[in-house]
Amino acid sequence: MITQDFHNHTTFCDGKADPETMVKTAIERGITRLGLLIHSYTFFDESYCAAQDAPTKFKATMAQLKEAYRGKIELYCGVEQDYYSVESTEGFDYVIGSVHYLRHGDEYPPVDDCRETQMGIVKALFGGDYYAYAEEYFRTVANVVEKTKPDIIGHFDLASKYNGEGDLFDETHPRYIAAWQAAADRLLTYNIPFEINLGGIMRAGRHEPYPTLAMQRYLAEHGARVVLSSDSHTPDTLRQGFDEWEAAAKSVGFKPEQWAELRF
Ligand SMILES: [Zn+2]
Ligand SMILES: [Zn+2]
Repeated sequence: MITQDFHNHTTFCDGKADPETMVKTAIERGITRLGLLIHSYTFFDESYCAAQDAPTKFKATMAQLKEAYRGKIELYCGVEQDYYSVESTEGFDYVIGSVHYLRHGDEYPPVDDCRETQMGIVKALFGGDYYAYAEEYFRTVANVVEKTKPDIIGHFDLASKYNGEGDLFDETHPRYIAAWQAAADRLLTYNIPFEINLGGIMRAGRHEPYPTLAMQRYLAEHGARVVLSSDSHTPDTLRQGFDEWEAAAKSVGFKPEQWAELRF
């Protein structure tokens, strides 16, 4: 049974519950190591991220909670560093490196804003070619370790968030597979754990985690290390689905030694 979860947001950014509520629920649900994190400040879009001056207060709040809940749960204070964020990650216990935006000149089109926005971006910037969009996304993801120096690689295939049952593009198309495999190959060289992120299942109606089971099979074969994350924005999804998706990951080939047990 996996009892660590390092990808959870609070009211310090776009989460709906304060840190202490998240901690109390995590304890009730048997979590022994909990990471709470903020979205790094992104100057080009302030709608999801923490305020630019939030890190100081967030770190202080987490320090108090670590003290108050010592012996009950291990707490970690993290940052989900966006690829295009220019903020420092200094002083956080750990970093998740994530791509939430592409870049076109001075514009930063979001990858996971909503289905309509994503369709508009693909039409306007890629002539409606979803594979060109995916190629650009995965070229960026391939560089996420270099750019954000993370402890965990965040939601590897976020760009497929709104694809449903393949409504927008075919995830078995050779161009799509070539794009994600090139990114996976590059990221595998760092031996940094990928997260198996359940956020899209909980909040976006996806049927598989990020990365999908097909991707997980490839990563398992190529020796990737993984952690399971709920990407909770509310307490009710903490550890939700962990047993089912741990079993699914095992069924596609992850061996016990590939599950990363993390302490920062
Ligand atoms: Zn994210
Ligand atoms: Zn997140």
